[in-house]
Amino acid sequence: MKLVRTLKELREARASLAEPVGLVPTMGYLHEGHLSLVQAAHRSCASVVVSIFVNPTQFGPQEDLARYPRDLQHDLDLLEKENVDIVWAPEDGEMYPPDYQTWVSVENVTRPLEGELRPGHFRGVTTVVSKLFNTVQPQKAFFGQKDAQQAQVILRMVADLNFPIDIQICPIIREADGLAMSSRNTYLSPAERQAAPILNRALLSARSLYENGERNAAVIKNSLQDIFKEEPLARPQYIAVVDPATFEEIGIIQDKALILLAVYFGKTRLIDNLILSGK
Ligand code: AMP
Repeated sequence: MKLVRTLKELREARASLAEPVGLVPTMGYLHEGHLSLVQAAHRSCASVVVSIFVNPTQFGPQEDLARYPRDLQHDLDLLEKENVDIVWAPEDGEMYPPDYQTWVSVENVTRPLEGELRPGHFRGVTTVVSKLFNTVQPQKAFFGQKDAQQAQVILRMVADLNFPIDIQICPIIREADGLAMSSRNTYLSPAERQAAPILNRALLSARSLYENGERNAAVIKNSLQDIFKEEPLARPQYIAVVDPATFEEIGIIQDKALILLAVYFGKTRLIDNLILSGK
């Protein structure tokens, strides 16, 4: 496994990789969720590149860029065990040279929910992912359903900009008690950590309403609000039922729907989601 920190090193290492190459973009502080993407990449690619870059342009001024958890050595140990070929961990200046002024921005699907609450977030994501695609030139790239809106935004961008890259969206990996794995879970106090699986329990209760025939999104959302009222540490920011492709809110569920949650525990904001589908 090769750790590369400059574009020059990346290009040299990339030139000798067996094709097809799979890319797994991450912000580091890796967990089983990230590793599941690496494993998926190995199943269909001859070489795997993992990028580790805490992308400053996707954090708002009030967000957690400075305190975002980092542990490169631990990440490298984990990736070594997964037989990754290249770890691309650029310095900020390598990705954003002085006088940087070029952005990629996707329109409609970035507007609601995360886009509305985190202005500029998706512009930062699509810009850095475009740069990772250009620098690594993978044939495939692997993203998690955990960040459901991000996944749709990337699919839209790749289709709209003709990136010759096959995007795979991989399922959410959870802790034994149902909490979706996230680097941000480390911010939780012990009491908050104990309360946090309420996101998954709420999603499962929505699924059972759906399976029992409920199709009115307002009824499902109200029942989730009631579940969160029982946990004083949890403060839902949004509970949404949307079209999984457009992220527009749905009134009556016709076929598929996506339930999305953003919930605060103290200052920590957790997101989770579940697809409701007749199948
Ligand atoms: P991050 O390091 O948080 O930017 O995440 C890097 C990639 O890992 C993104 O595509 C995430 O959606 C994905 N990811 C994060 N957590 C999980 C999880 N629990 N299960 C599956 N994928 C995940």
